[in-house]
Amino acid sequence: MIRINDILDKMVEHNPDANLDVVDRAYIYSARVHAGQVRLSGEPYLSHPLEVAGLLADMKLDGVSVASGLLHDVIEDTRATSEEIDEIFGKEVAHIVSGVTKLSKLQFKSSRAREAESIRKMILAMADDIRVILIKLADRLHNMRTLQFHKEHKRMKIAQETLDIYAPLADRLGIYWIKQELENISFKYLQPEEYERIKNLINKDKEDRDKYVETVKEYIKEKMEANSLKCEVMGRYKQYYSTYYKMVTQSLEFEDLYDIIAFRIILDTKSQCYEALGLLHTMWKPIPKKFKDYIGVPKPNMYQSLHTTVVGPFGERMEIQIRTNEMDRVAKSGIAAHWSYKEGKMFDEKVGKTFSWLQDLLETHRDYHDPVEFLENVRIDLFPDEVYVFTPRGEIRSLPKGATPVDFAYQIHTEVGNQCTGAKVNGRLVPLQYELKTGDAVEIVTTKGHNPSKDWLNFVKTVKARSRIRQWIKAQEKERSLSLGKEMCEKAFRKYRLNFTAMLRSKEINIAVTSFNYKTVDDLIASVGYGKITPLQIIKKVAPIRETEDEDSSILNRIIGKVRKKKVNEGVVVKGVDDILIKFGKCCQPVPGDSIVGYITRGHGVAIHRSNCVNSLKMSPERQIEVEWNEDMKERYPLKIRIRAYDRFGLLADITGTISKSEANIINAKTHTNDDKTVDSYFSIEVEDTAHLKRVLTAIKKIKHVHEVKRIDN
Ligand code: MN
Repeated sequence: MIRINDILDKMVEHNPDANLDVVDRAYIYSARVHAGQVRLSGEPYLSHPLEVAGLLADMKLDGVSVASGLLHDVIEDTRATSEEIDEIFGKEVAHIVSGVTKLSKLQFKSSRAREAESIRKMILAMADDIRVILIKLADRLHNMRTLQFHKEHKRMKIAQETLDIYAPLADRLGIYWIKQELENISFKYLQPEEYERIKNLINKDKEDRDKYVETVKEYIKEKMEANSLKCEVMGRYKQYYSTYYKMVTQSLEFEDLYDIIAFRIILDTKSQCYEALGLLHTMWKPIPKKFKDYIGVPKPNMYQSLHTTVVGPFGERMEIQIRTNEMDRVAKSGIAAHWSYKEGKMFDEKVGKTFSWLQDLLETHRDYHDPVEFLENVRIDLFPDEVYVFTPRGEIRSLPKGATPVDFAYQIHTEVGNQCTGAKVNGRLVPLQYELKTGDAVEIVTTKGHNPSKDWLNFVKTVKARSRIRQWIKAQEKERSLSLGKEMCEKAFRKYRLNFTAMLRSKEINIAVTSFNYKTVDDLIASVGYGKITPLQIIKKVAPIRETEDEDSSILNRIIGKVRKKKVNEGVVVKGVDDILIKFGKCCQPVPGDSIVGYITRGHGVAIHRSNCVNSLKMSPERQIEVEWNEDMKERYPLKIRIRAYDRFGLLADITGTISKSEANIINAKTHTNDDKTVDSYFSIEVEDTAHLKRVLTAIKKIKHVHEVKRIDN
């Protein structure tokens, strides 16, 4: 078990000014709260946070990171709270420890390969400080090193998760030594036989190989020194898992692998690297297309190096990597290298510039001049445009930032989106406009027969949701236009004494379809509903020969005249449509001034109802159509009123007189005398509009013994 003093020594070695105090205090606290806890190995629990802290010190991280490593399990496994950590160790440590705790609590129900990438991104997105991930990786590494103490099925699960999630994460961050160790240990547990086989293959003839490595190293060294290039040369064996992976993915036999041993040349400057490359290529013939310049074009995780494969001194293929000391440091510790304490120099902007995802960070955080400050202040936001959420089944979905439950619903299935009526996030009901956050568990409430709303277009973020909602609205409009078009055609055809229904089945209708450039009869009729063409235009196409030309035009003119006149006579305008049959709902008897809606009836034109009419509320919304009062028209409209009064002689005469004086027509009157000597009178009257009605009602109210006057539904 590593001791706290070893950790402190490592830190001082990397940085004499390291913040040892916070580490010391974290150690004492961690030892106290973990006291009595034991690991599966039988060791005191404290050994785990100590080992994790040791790994972080090896990564040359700062005091806050190492302290957080010592405390990384206290919130989850002891009585400690994040408030307490905040109080004792400050906001930063508390933030990081909470971040690690949050990640530990994530339960990935599936580890299917296609989800692994999303899970990795989710982890990166959830950790708003890069140190959270570095601690998580160190934690996982130590857990893998002590995996033998777990039961078989648990071992397999952890090993698979490590291989799917954590090793690629380490790779993404460029921390190769962690990646390799995680892979090798996982491989050992997941495929013990393959692991042994590869291990034996690599270690076979080890003595010969070692001799070979020494010989090649000498050749290279000599050549470099002869050209005054100071360098270090290393020969390395390929890792077990990456060997196996290459064999499997490229269907190669072990004998076909030429990079089991790779050589690495480390120099001082970039130009020396290219010089060394030239020298190597004069010694040994390079294999075409095997040369890669990761110095000119670095890998996304900051890795830089020159790679070449040559035909070596014994006619064998040989891979050589050439890089500077600094590049080697980055290659070993990846993202951590740029934030380590030691040099205390500014983050290498030139290097950073070449990595797009780091570039963004740099641009936002240009003000930080030393790596420590940078490390401490950068909240990583590697995938700023995406959020990752869970489905009820524990699957992960990625959505653009700002996405809502409606976007989520459409991503699940178009029908789920269309019938979405509500959403629960982490078990609680949220508005449909709710902005989803990474880690949210989302559940959609659907109602059969429910339809999407136009308003959703104001807040959905995904292209899919947007296009599906539009599609639905369009289909709905088409249906509406189609029935409206039918109404209009039927009416116009009737005026011509033509049978529209019969016409639909005739050949002539197809002439009209093609001549107006439509594909189907429905398209043609719908275009009448849309107002693009008039029924008359269709009539001209389908029935021009039925009348003589003179007669035809005269009838036509008469009809047009009639239609126009009729239109003026209508008190209601259907938006975008001219000649349409209008009728008023008998139930609610709308008059100008009332808020109204139109409904396309089946075969009887558009029915006008008051917006609050009980019957209209029951009608299906797709048959609804926008209408408005024609303000140029002064017409009278019928409606019904009820008057309650104490019976007296001459009451009825007073009421009828008042109504007439108010210039309203009486169409019908009925009275009913009750036992308590009150009388209910029902009048059907005709008024111009709601203002007129109001005048009538006010006048009646003033009549002696009248105590209530009211407009009522028929
Ligand atoms: Mn742990």
